[in-house]
Amino acid sequence: MQIAMIQDKIVPITELEPVYLDRGIFFGDGVYEVVRSYDGRIFTLEEHLQRFANSLSAIEISGLDIDRIRSRVLKSFDVAGISNARIYFHVTRGSELRNHLSKADLEPNFFLTITELEDNTQAKTKGIEVSTHPDWRWKRCDIKSLNLLANVLARRDAAAKGCTEAILVDEDDLITEGASSAFFAISDQTLRTAALTANILPSITRQFVIKAGKNIGLETIEKTLTPQQASEADELFIASTTQDITPVVKFDGKLIGDGKPGKHTKLLTREFLSFTV
Ligand code: PLP
Repeated sequence: MQIAMIQDKIVPITELEPVYLDRGIFFGDGVYEVVRSYDGRIFTLEEHLQRFANSLSAIEISGLDIDRIRSRVLKSFDVAGISNARIYFHVTRGSELRNHLSKADLEPNFFLTITELEDNTQAKTKGIEVSTHPDWRWKRCDIKSLNLLANVLARRDAAAKGCTEAILVDEDDLITEGASSAFFAISDQTLRTAALTANILPSITRQFVIKAGKNIGLETIEKTLTPQQASEADELFIASTTQDITPVVKFDGKLIGDGKPGKHTKLLTREFLSFTV
């Protein structure tokens, strides 16, 4: 008899719920998105859906209609009734017994959660500490893949050091991005962040941070920094959908500026938040 075991329970393979055979579990064979709402309005849904479509296409999952995903997101957001919500969804290649090469006719699995965003006022007003970690990820970080083990390990390392985020550093000693955020430095009226390559996620927040920067008179340079350069910047911050702009006040134990969120970061945040209303 072909069997499976779930904790202490033996189950015949034929009776196993498909959720246990999801290729997302076996291989991280899927892609995801995280969108948020501000005061009951979803921010940049179309940009996230477009990136999701790109991720699906990059890993060759087809047959999923983005219009249908949009309707599912909108419907569930309506039902949840949460004004500051984190909307997470993923699609995996489907469920079947573990086999690297999937069956051709597998039906993709869709999963979504809507939860309340935690209050991050303290992190935003006081700033956070970050620590560097080697970037152990694969070579297609532009795909928002479910494979996040390297990101998880980096975050665990940062947490063990009392830091909120891990800043990933590649083999050439250049900062790619945060474990779950884009990374920015400000010095001399200039905003600096890594250029979009296959090594980083095309962050949606990044797009709007650059736009906000332009509006407040900051020039943007898309060029990677070394940890040394970052630690000498006037201001640092991370950016992501769920945390928008969060100032960094300590980098690998070194105080940035006077150890308080910088004035340009504050101006930038105000400008960025004006896009969300
Ligand atoms: N970089 C990584 C590795 C991320 O995981 C995230 C967000 O989760 C970001 C950047 C920021 O992307 P976005 O602004 O689209 O949330």
